[in-house]
Amino acid sequence: MNNNIMNHKVLKLFSEISKIPRESGNEKTISDWIKAWAEERNLQVKQDEVYDLIIKKPASSGFEDHPAVLMQAHIDMVCEKNSDSTHDFAKDPIELDFDGEWIRSASGTTLGADDGIGVAAALAVLDDDELQHPPLEVVFTVQEETTFAGASGVDISGCEAMRMINLDHADERELIVGSCGGTGAEFTMPLERETGIPAGMKAFRIRLTGLQGGHSGEDIHRGRGNAISLLLRLLEAPQLRVVSIHGGTNRLAIPREAEAVVLAEDEDAVNRCVSDAKAVFRKEYSGAAPDLDITVVEVNRGEGGADTETESPLTDASFRKLAAVLRLYPNGIVQMNGNLEGLVESSDNIGIVTVEGDRLTLVSEVRGAYRTTVDDIVKTIEALKEMVGAEVRYFDGYVPWEFAAESTLRPLAVNTYKKLFGGEMKELALHAGLECGFFADKKPGMDIISIGPDCRSFHSPEERVRAESVVHFYELLIEMLKKL
Ligand SMILES: [Zn+2]
Repeated sequence: MNNNIMNHKVLKLFSEISKIPRESGNEKTISDWIKAWAEERNLQVKQDEVYDLIIKKPASSGFEDHPAVLMQAHIDMVCEKNSDSTHDFAKDPIELDFDGEWIRSASGTTLGADDGIGVAAALAVLDDDELQHPPLEVVFTVQEETTFAGASGVDISGCEAMRMINLDHADERELIVGSCGGTGAEFTMPLERETGIPAGMKAFRIRLTGLQGGHSGEDIHRGRGNAISLLLRLLEAPQLRVVSIHGGTNRLAIPREAEAVVLAEDEDAVNRCVSDAKAVFRKEYSGAAPDLDITVVEVNRGEGGADTETESPLTDASFRKLAAVLRLYPNGIVQMNGNLEGLVESSDNIGIVTVEGDRLTLVSEVRGAYRTTVDDIVKTIEALKEMVGAEVRYFDGYVPWEFAAESTLRPLAVNTYKKLFGGEMKELALHAGLECGFFADKKPGMDIISIGPDCRSFHSPEERVRAESVVHFYELLIEMLKKL
């Protein structure tokens, strides 16, 4: 066991940071602490109204005429804890637990290595007057985990750097070279219902469960199935009349479950539809969803359940229109990336569908590696909107970090890593949003990479970081600075 590694300057700084609460949206304390820390070292610091920080350090001797480099990390963290943890994220320090290889929270909470390690690495560079480096500009942002308010709003017009190293990745063997942009979309359409409940029909609730779900971007290519799309295939059976549909909980997650209330003449008819669909879906998703299940219960409409249970069914025409919208609305991979093999270029995820009262509400997340491909999907949604008389609201948009053909940082990182540790770094673009997109947008043409140490289980109390990898990450960083 190598307990001395915990005395490495990056890990000591990380341990200091971990004592300070820094939930997204509550960054004042950590921001003030870093500001005071930098002022003690006579560094130039600027703090803005949302507590982003810009810290500058002059070049080391001999590097005065080199162009500046920007290092960037986010100071907020996701605050999740086990149900039995009494930790108070507003005031309690996070204690570290080191098992000789991995560092975890000893408090049953997220660790905050995302992105506390990136912050600590940047501070370690700023703290060391022996290092060789060009003029340094360090930008610490807030609310990366929620709204991107820090990265989107921070004013870097006073920064000169056209080369940026983001310190927020989670694997030392990976070099991130691009990320997607996107937008949320909420599509609403009026629906029509029969004037009454057809005589002799009974109501049933059908539930489809057991899909794996996953991240709406990073897992969209895994063929895990969308519970809403599968349920629709079942609901198209002519024996069923649809009253309501509820599927998914979050547009950023692939829906794992969906349910509908339907009317049918008898239980046998419903059971037959369900068992037929179940057999088909279990075959199609035998690998991705072995636990797929569909259940039916009769709903007693006389016993004052939810309103939807006593509603009349959609008219035939209205249901057909609804089904057409769900079939034609972009969902899943739209296009693969022709530059980086195996990567999804653009996609859309139908994350939530609600059919109740007199309207359909559908919420999706559109993603693309280029602004233009995001716009292209939006145009498809707009065309559908026009055809069916719907309305669409777009929200929480963010810009892509587009893959740049030319870069000096990319080959420098790959070659330096190989020289130091003998392995190959893999260049990857993510089908997820990163803060780098906002910086690329503010400084067109800026050369950007993202790196970080080996981490696991981000955003959960299982979050951990490999101590030796933190040392590698830091050595890679300072070795690169020497050559910039
Ligand atoms: Zn992060």
